[in-house]
Amino acid sequence: MSPADDELHPGTRVVHLGRPPHQPGAPVNPSIVPTSTFVAGGADVYARPGNPTWEPFEHALGELEGGRALAFGSGMAAVSAAAHLAPVGGVVVAPPSVYNTTSTLLDEAHAAGRLVVRRVDLADLDAVRDALDGADLLWVESPTNPLLEVFDVTELCRMARAAGAISVCDNTFSTPILQRPIEVGCDVVVHSVTKYLAGHSDLLMGATVTADDALHDRLHRHRTVHGAVPSPFDAWLALRGMRTLQVRMERSCSSATTLVHRLNTHPAVERLRYPGLGAVISIEVRGGAAAASRVEELVRVWTPATSLGGVESLLERRRRQPAEPDVVPENLVRLSVGIEDVGDLWRDLDQALTASQQA
Ligand SMILES: *Cc1c(COP(=O)(O)O)cnc(C)c1O
Repeated sequence: MSPADDELHPGTRVVHLGRPPHQPGAPVNPSIVPTSTFVAGGADVYARPGNPTWEPFEHALGELEGGRALAFGSGMAAVSAAAHLAPVGGVVVAPPSVYNTTSTLLDEAHAAGRLVVRRVDLADLDAVRDALDGADLLWVESPTNPLLEVFDVTELCRMARAAGAISVCDNTFSTPILQRPIEVGCDVVVHSVTKYLAGHSDLLMGATVTADDALHDRLHRHRTVHGAVPSPFDAWLALRGMRTLQVRMERSCSSATTLVHRLNTHPAVERLRYPGLGAVISIEVRGGAAAASRVEELVRVWTPATSLGGVESLLERRRRQPAEPDVVPENLVRLSVGIEDVGDLWRDLDQALTASQQA
């Protein structure tokens, strides 16, 4: 069996990709190479352009998404590198609600005159077609964070290509287990590796993936020049975490489905958003921001914390964060379903929601 064999299921491949060749006596795991420089005359020169510990991670993620991956020091470093694919003064089309720091990055570039950002509802394909006229880059996030809107990634990427714009898809919420944008015509995938890929809330990392060699070279150059690189240890840990991606996603998705069915009829839940797949659920708690904040205080199994995609279940009233835009309701609580026993998760959530109603 060859792990590079793309007939194998991604869940099988992620276990095997990026391991050293099978030779008698060889280790089954890649090594961590903690060095800033290399003796002259070889392929590796200095550890900012490339590091042997990034390579197994990049190889594995690239194979899963169907392109070539580059590791970055955080998700935002990868987002920034992808946004820089638009030229100075270039037009970027983006939906009104995306991950809040991505939004801040686009807004600040717009305010500074470095980019012209056109915000348009990506569900309105006619409006997108108009907005793409003269555009350089289309920014897609699907599902969006935290409103969990889902868009037609295939059609959007096709429209971007027809308009001569580069399409970028933030695939953090789905991972290549659930969605592979490059297969449906997306030019560049970005990830916050911090979340599901690494999966244990113990590091920050990002990645870009593209099947286009010219775009890969530009992203690589950006990483080298801007210097937002991960440590070898984090890259090693991220690949170690990715080994269990399939089982973690399966478990979290199935628990999310169970919780959605129960939350749907919970008297403390005013509205529930769930795209039908994935492990993030957003609920609006009856009783406004105060009741939603009480849920954060009352949980014992769930951890009240920002972020998502780890083995432990997290929840957060998103508007607690000053950067969260007004389109996100004050009483919206985002749930990141981890891998704990779903009965325990439900009982804890149920008692916190019920108690949150007793002001
Ligand atoms: C967290 C997140 C990011 C940013 O990633 P960091 O690793 O925190 O820098 C980007 N996009 C989405 C969808 C995220 O959830």
